[in-house]
Amino acid sequence: MRVQTNATHDPGLHSWVESANAPDTDFPIQNLPFGVFFQPEEGEDEQDARVGIAIGDQVLDLALLEDEDLLEGVETDDDESDLEDDLRAPALGLLMMSGRERTRRLRKRISKLLAAGNDELAGRKKLRTRALIPMDRAVMVLPDPSQDYTDFYASVHHATNVGSMFRPDNPLLPNYPWIPIGYHGRASTLVVSGSEVRRPLGQTRPDDAAPPVFGPCRQLDYEAEVGFYIAGGNAMGSRIELDDAEEFLFGACLVNDWSARDIQKWEYQPLGPFLAKNFATSVSPWVVTMDALAPFRCAPTARPAGMPAPLPYLDSESHRASGGIDMTIEVWIATAQMREQGVPAVRLSAGRYRDMLWTIAQMVAHHTCNGCALQAGDLLASGTVSGPERHNRGCLLELTWDGDPWANPPKSAPGSARTPIELPTGEKRVFLQDGDEVILRGSCARDGARRIGFGECRGIVTPAE
Ligand code: CA
Repeated sequence: MRVQTNATHDPGLHSWVESANAPDTDFPIQNLPFGVFFQPEEGEDEQDARVGIAIGDQVLDLALLEDEDLLEGVETDDDESDLEDDLRAPALGLLMMSGRERTRRLRKRISKLLAAGNDELAGRKKLRTRALIPMDRAVMVLPDPSQDYTDFYASVHHATNVGSMFRPDNPLLPNYPWIPIGYHGRASTLVVSGSEVRRPLGQTRPDDAAPPVFGPCRQLDYEAEVGFYIAGGNAMGSRIELDDAEEFLFGACLVNDWSARDIQKWEYQPLGPFLAKNFATSVSPWVVTMDALAPFRCAPTARPAGMPAPLPYLDSESHRASGGIDMTIEVWIATAQMREQGVPAVRLSAGRYRDMLWTIAQMVAHHTCNGCALQAGDLLASGTVSGPERHNRGCLLELTWDGDPWANPPKSAPGSARTPIELPTGEKRVFLQDGDEVILRGSCARDGARRIGFGECRGIVTPAE
């Protein structure tokens, strides 16, 4: 596996786009994430959507730059598709199909064009005004609507907590230390950040002594996850080796795997999640490339004491050195009442992605070890990112299990009755109520590197119909 930094990551690099130099921006010139947008104020609709890059508080229109011959050198004779077609498309799918190398060249070229002192675009005032669109005037669409979606269960902390609730004597099943557990989700119900999420209907069994009932979910939850889009892909029958896996990754995003816990509890055995999960999954509009993440690669957190090492096809020296990503994912909530009273969103948790038991490279190697074909644009999500501390827990199922996550010591012992989270308005939450907005935020920061962010992944719960 190849994790290298280059001139695009230099923390001293500045942009002539002033907002990109603000210390708190998610989108400095060292990031350059890809997304798909259109401009409704210009009379455009989703059919006009095209590929852009986030820089500060602006969206850079890449198709326009290609029209103006500012992306020369990105295309090579070996490329199978036309760069202009890839960038004019209303999804990132074609770019993802072109493999990781072309995106790497594109990112390098954009870094040069946007760097302070470069005049190629900065010096053309009229074009510059057309090519840079303020984010509040761009509508972002789903980065890639068409392919498959697989959700994993890679946090040993999440798996242990959830397992303890459902099976107190036997929280971790015997396969967990050996297999990156996952299930096939539904790409058809992926939605972009900002889309409303309707409370699902389903079958639950609140009383074990009575037959199940059908009605609105009463235990609606979120799950904070990191998702990865596949670049290129593998032919059916072939495998992707662990140390090659990174070359099959386009980039990462935030994922909210909305979960109906009461439906899940009744339906999950013996085949795993089904209707409790596939009513909606929200993704962030910006995809942070694997290249932008290079400065934040790290060793994955050590396995718990006594846990066996992975089998050889899921293990390698370079993977042990840099298979992890040092990324923080935060969950915030704003209820309808909070919004009405002007009370800002409250942070519920902050988890570290490096604490996951399985890395994305291991997920890719395992997903394809039987010859299963991954295709460009497929989304692989990590599973709920939870860590060792209570405030690291990435879903309400875990957070309200034993009380206020930020209180120390806990207000109640694990395994006792659920303890609601109290909000500044005096409202309490055990699970989500209609009107609640869940906001995921992600970022990578370390000494010697420029902090980069993932933007946000938002969704408001609407009533069942
Ligand atoms: Ca999940």
